[in-house]
Amino acid sequence: MVGIRACSAPTKDGQRCGATPLREESVCFWHSPEHAEAAVEARRLGGLRRRKENTIAGAYDFEGLQSITEIRRLVEIVVTDALNTENSVARGRLLIAAAQAAAKLLEVGELEERLRTVEAALGPRLVKKGQR
Ligand SMILES: [Zn+2]
Repeated sequence: MVGIRACSAPTKDGQRCGATPLREESVCFWHSPEHAEAAVEARRLGGLRRRKENTIAGAYDFEGLQSITEIRRLVEIVVTDALNTENSVARGRLLIAAAQAAAKLLEVGELEERLRTVEAALGPRLVKKGQR
């Protein structure tokens, strides 16, 4: 990897930082003495942001978008909130979009289930051919 610049500052655990350095500096934003104040403020805002995200995620019982169940939860939140607003064209469009997203999730979930069944039936043969 010749030519790729990396921050030369050490991290807390003694490793090399490795982040992209600032233009014409050997260290990154986080390790630049000239940007120390801004870095402190950015870390503070980042912490506030994460705390706010955790609070909201807890309030909505929302864990992320990693699984069909989690994505479905987001669609449920959107639908519930939309149903609780004044009727409008925008609300109608939002509800239709949510219904389409939910239908797609059902479709994908059904396909995954069918694929699992097929893989369970063909499992030993698939493993032997190195396709799994
Ligand atoms: Zn750095």
